[in-house]
Amino acid sequence: MIHGSSTSPIAFQWDAWYASVGGRSIHIAEVDEYLKQIRDYQYPRFTGEVNPQKTLFASNQEASQFIRNSARSLGADEVGIAMIEPSDVYKGRVIHEPFAIVVGQKMLWREFQGVPNERSATECLRIYFTLGEIVIALADQIRSLGYACTVEHPIGDSDVLHVPLALKAGFGELGRHGSIIHPKMGPLFRLGSVITNMPLAIDAPIDAGIAKFCDTCKACRIYCPADAIPDERSNEAGKDHLGNDRYMVDTGRCFPYFAKDHYCSACLAVCVYNHKEWARDFEGFTTKLFPDLQLKEAPEPVDPDAETHWYPLRKR
Ligand code: SF4
Ligand code: SF4
Repeated sequence: MIHGSSTSPIAFQWDAWYASVGGRSIHIAEVDEYLKQIRDYQYPRFTGEVNPQKTLFASNQEASQFIRNSARSLGADEVGIAMIEPSDVYKGRVIHEPFAIVVGQKMLWREFQGVPNERSATECLRIYFTLGEIVIALADQIRSLGYACTVEHPIGDSDVLHVPLALKAGFGELGRHGSIIHPKMGPLFRLGSVITNMPLAIDAPIDAGIAKFCDTCKACRIYCPADAIPDERSNEAGKDHLGNDRYMVDTGRCFPYFAKDHYCSACLAVCVYNHKEWARDFEGFTTKLFPDLQLKEAPEPVDPDAETHWYPLRKR
């Protein structure tokens, strides 16, 4: 049993944040349909019977390789495994399985040619749905092998923090915009996890010079319409997996914009990491390297009364 550390952030208070900006105002038929499918079709499939007969592997390495192959055959673009520590669990939450299998899936760059807009918003939800299918199917496979597991869906009320787990599992490094940058997928992907008691060999974090790249590049900070991304790392924000002070986005500035303008994502689309090598389209679609930005004036910052995770108030 692993209890969230007293210094962990609390789970994101979606209702309180939306209430603070006057409620949900993004209505796109395809997005609403994905949300309905996730709620009605995916949530009921989070649990299942564990096979009383355990399949044993020759080693934890072999078990991990089996899981990696399974996740990739289900459609994952990246898979990594990490040991869960209390700091990876939200404050006040308790989990029962020690290994996290973190799964990533790319969003299609061709849907981010203009941001923020209906296409970019819909692509975010499409990937939440397809990633949900992957973690649900992977959990079913793990239960059929005789091991308990829990689905930590990419959207909604997760008990674990996907980002620090993915960093430990070697997905990449934390960018200035607060999202992970993967050496090949760049920042344009989403994460989900399955946590399990199946004994697994864990992956190692990477140092590919990405965090250093962010120290000289400020594209996301320059284009963020809400001025939520900082100039400097903050020694109050905790350390990333490489021991760097973290860049900390001002959530009270980001959220009102995100909630009003198609889940924004401008900071991901403008990210120029590795000269946008990650944005190449290998399926023959013609895409621009830099998106058209359709940014609006930012609403006033908000800070809901409910308890929230710590974040700096930028230039308030
Ligand atoms: S999502 Fe938009 S508002 Fe939020 S940090 Fe990124 S660019 Fe800024
Ligand atoms: S735009 Fe530049 S500074 Fe921002 S996350 Fe990407 S590489 Fe880092």
